[in-house]
Amino acid sequence: MADILTMGVDLGSTTSKCVILRNGADTLSSAIAQAGAGTGGPARAVAEALDKAGLTRPEITAVTATGYGRNTFAGADFVVSELSCHAAGAHAVFPEARTVIDIGGQDAKVLRTGPSGTLENFIMNDKCAAGTGRFLDVMARVLELDVSELAQYDARAESAVTISSTCTVFAKSEVISQLAGGVDLCALIAGIHASVAVRTASLVKRLGLVPPLAMTGGVAQNAGVVRALEKELGQPISVSPIAQLNGAYGAALYAWKKLGKDD
Ligand code: ADP
Repeated sequence: MADILTMGVDLGSTTSKCVILRNGADTLSSAIAQAGAGTGGPARAVAEALDKAGLTRPEITAVTATGYGRNTFAGADFVVSELSCHAAGAHAVFPEARTVIDIGGQDAKVLRTGPSGTLENFIMNDKCAAGTGRFLDVMARVLELDVSELAQYDARAESAVTISSTCTVFAKSEVISQLAGGVDLCALIAGIHASVAVRTASLVKRLGLVPPLAMTGGVAQNAGVVRALEKELGQPISVSPIAQLNGAYGAALYAWKKLGKDD
């Protein structure tokens, strides 16, 4: 029988992701473009994923669009909320997880997933940059670091500086004045991570903490945030190896299931 190829495209607020699956199981290729919905990012992610797999668009049987900009994607066979796609993607990687924490570029979500991976409940912060990737991006820029470098400084911290402002703009001023005062950089970064952890933990507690916990989204790649969150919640967190691609992966799985090949 011919292979069934499905594609998931996640049009995020800051990045665009694409995953191509063969028969709902093997990941043939994936791509991340550093530009989100409403830009050339989605088309670039799709073109790169197709190119890496040596495929053309007509060879893809079905495409699911998800994420913040999902309704702007032309040529989707299915359009599905990122909440369902993140739940499906996380369930495929960690079937035992009951609480999935997803921190992206502009929002943070906590999902309660059922034993079969369906979304049972969720809570979301999309109103405030604090507690999202945006907060970390702003702080990294002030510190003249790339966001991917923050975790290695955190790992060397012997203490954490308290960041008392919850607002990103005021917290940024606080960080600038700490730097001017000659604060230890590692302790400052640990404090920035602790501040994200406190915000995220309060979302988790509002939904209800049901272990085991898993984490997805771009910020899951920051081991400093994960560690701070584990400390805040008193629970271990499994980090998805496809953190940033999880929504696109769940979307490609959704297309596969819709085609009825997983019955
Ligand atoms: P969205 O889907 O909303 O576009 P993502 O899930 O792609 O968001 O997450 C983007 C965020 O992930 C960025 O704001 C950044 O803070 C964080 N991030 C991206 N790459 C890395 C990395 N290599 N290490 C740590 N954090 C990262």
